[in-house]
Order: sequence, then structure tokens, then C-alpha cells
Amino acid sequence: QALQPQLSVRDLEVHYGPVKAVKGISFDLMPGRITTLVGANGAGKSTTLLALSGLVKKQATALQFNGRDIRNLKPHQLVASGLVQVAEGRATLTRLTVRENLQLGAYTRKDSAAAQAADLEHIYQLFPRLKERDGGLAGNLSGGEQQMLAIGRALMAKPSVLLLDEPSMGLAPIIVQDIFRTLQSINQTGLTIFLVEQNVRQALKISDYAYVLETGNIVLEGSGRSLLGNDKIQQAYLGG
Ligand code: ATP
Repeated sequence: QALQPQLSVRDLEVHYGPVKAVKGISFDLMPGRITTLVGANGAGKSTTLLALSGLVKKQATALQFNGRDIRNLKPHQLVASGLVQVAEGRATLTRLTVRENLQLGAYTRKDSAAAQAADLEHIYQLFPRLKERDGGLAGNLSGGEQQMLAIGRALMAKPSVLLLDEPSMGLAPIIVQDIFRTLQSINQTGLTIFLVEQNVRQALKISDYAYVLETGNIVLEGSGRSLLGNDKIQQAYLGG
């Protein structure tokens, strides 16, 4: 039996007043895979994620998540359903401790404190650096550590799909590699990942499948490997 998409998007449109930012795109996230939306500045990548998170008005002929129509769900309902977007690294609550930031990620959960404590431990295993900083203020973390904290906080919501908007932004190349390696290991635990990135080369390297967005339209799609070798991608995004 063929694998069913975990999230299926059909004819998604978003307008900002008269500006059509997303012009009727369709894509699928397959369970347990890393899928990426790549494209230049202003292509509509962030807007696509905002639409999936319920944060901008949108139209679509279908938005199916785990077999359920999610077109009318509110942001907190989407989080509770397992579709969770990682906040920008800079959006960590700088005057709270690392642990408090992580605990906040569990706000939509209704399971036991013990289950949440176990997940916190698991996240500390994934990010030993955060465990070392457990009682320290998030504001004292480096940019890379804040990005890790943002990912950890999203994981505390127990997502079944994790959405990320340019986790590599503003970080040194070596830190970017760290972040992408972490995403791969999270993915290996079975979590489905949808990544939006301008860092096309690094993103394609870790992607099972990718879509290329240009001015609100998907113009190309394929496996990460095939797109890395694609002439058009080479010329437009990878410097020839
Ligand atoms: P970036 O990497 O710069 O975030 P992007 O691919 O994520 O780029 P979007 O931020 O989704 O692109 O923007 C898509 C288009 O929508 C752009 O033309 C942008 O100027 C426009 N846009 C984005 N946000 C708004 C807004 N709040 N009001 C009006 N236009 C907007």
C-alpha cells in the first residue's frame, strides 16, 4: 500500500490586500520525512508557514493533516493537533530560564506532569548544552543556543509535524551545520519535518524531498539529491 501524505496542501492562496504572496500552491509532507520549501527572499516561504500555523487568512481547496480537514482550526488548535512551528530563535523569552522556556512549550498538553518531565529530559539529551544552562537565563544564550532552545520548546508541544522558518538565519556556518544535524537526528526519531530555507545547498542536502518557490508559485520539485544536481537550481541558487 502506498504511503499517504501526513499533510496535504491543495491550491493554497494568501493575499496581503492586493498583493498575492502565495498563488495557489500544492504540496505534500510524507510521514517521517524531511521536506523543504526553498526560494529567494520574498518568494512567499514564510507566508506559507504562517498559513499552515493559522496566523494569516488563507484559501485552499484542501488542507488535510493526519486525515483531518484543518482549514478552520485556530493557531492553538493546530498546535494541539500536532502541527507545531518553531518560533524564531530570537523569540525565546530572554528573562526566563532555559527550563522555563521549555516548560512553556507544553502549554497545550493535557497529559501528566511526569510525562512532560520525561520529555524535558529527552530534550536535554538531544541538547546537552541546554541542560548545562538549565537554570540560566535564555537571554544569556548564544544565537545558536537560542535556536536550539526554540526547537526544544516546540518539541515540548509533542508535535507530529515540526515546521521551521529559516533556522539557519544569522548563524555562523559551523552552527548552521549543527542545527541541520540536530534536525536530522530529530527526524530519525520519526518526526516529520517541514523546513523553509534560503540556505538552499544545506537544506537540499538534508531533504528527502523539496519544492522550489518563486514569487508565490512552486516551479520545481524533486528529491533533495536531484535538485542539488539540477542545472537551473545550480545557476539560480547555488552559484553556478
Ligand atoms: P523572506 O525570506 O524574506 O521571509 P519569504 O519567501 O518568506 O521571504 P514572504 O515573507 O512570505 O517571503 O513574503 C512574500 C511576499 O509577501 C513578499 O512580496 C512580501 O513583500 C509580501 N508580504 C509579506 N508579509 C506581508 C505583509 N504583512 N503585508 C504585505 N505584504 C507582505
